[in-house]
Amino acid sequence: MRTPVIAGNWKMHNTVQEATDLVRELKQNLSGIEGVEIIVGPPFTALCAVVSELGGSNISVAAQNVFWEEKGAFTGEIAPGMIKETGCSHAIIGHSERRQYFGETDETVNKRVKAALSAGLIPIVCVGETLEQRESGNTMNVVKKQIKGSLDGFTPSDFDSIIIAYEPVWAIGTGKTASPDQAQEVHKFIRNTISEIAGRDISQNMRILYGGSVKPDNVDEIMQQEDVDGALVGGASLKADLFTRIVNFKK
Ligand code: PEP
Repeated sequence: MRTPVIAGNWKMHNTVQEATDLVRELKQNLSGIEGVEIIVGPPFTALCAVVSELGGSNISVAAQNVFWEEKGAFTGEIAPGMIKETGCSHAIIGHSERRQYFGETDETVNKRVKAALSAGLIPIVCVGETLEQRESGNTMNVVKKQIKGSLDGFTPSDFDSIIIAYEPVWAIGTGKTASPDQAQEVHKFIRNTISEIAGRDISQNMRILYGGSVKPDNVDEIMQQEDVDGALVGGASLKADLFTRIVNFKK
């Protein structure tokens, strides 16, 4: 009932030329795929080229961040309207690397999500606990606070447009994946939290992606979990053959 989403987060990788080469291959590999939403997330500099290369294909494009103001003296920031103008449809917001290295908080994530929605972009909102928080038994508290803070003040129709990515920080880029049971436990908890905030129907329709060292050899069992509706893929999204296999997960 929930269409799965497989999204690639390229992080700070790929020049315009490299990005174009990668999506050319992906476009070919993934052309016949149905029933899965496929998204790639290049750096800002390659957005226009990637959107242009993917025109008419079944692959959508996400920015990796978005600022909340429309214009002004904000050196180095990119406005939602500017991202929309490139032809992007999605924006990854609140990735743990943004939270960890660039001072992102639930409050700034909330502003970015609001701005993205106003510009007609679909936000992919990232949440997840650190290893220390997990080991001290605080995973659920942390995730609940992030969800409530990041998604405060939205209408039911806003919720319909939002995708959540649960990404345990200790599993990102480390080769350690949450076990399917660990992922399912938190995904279910997130769905229940959305139900408390926005109601059961909205929570049942909400896509919740898992992120953290998703690879061809672990995607199938992760995708078999009831509340896992897709994956946000970092490292393995940079290689056409690996990402192709992940999109072709077996449920
Ligand atoms: C990510 O960047 O969101 C991510 C999950 O990275 P990786 O797949 O490399 O762990």
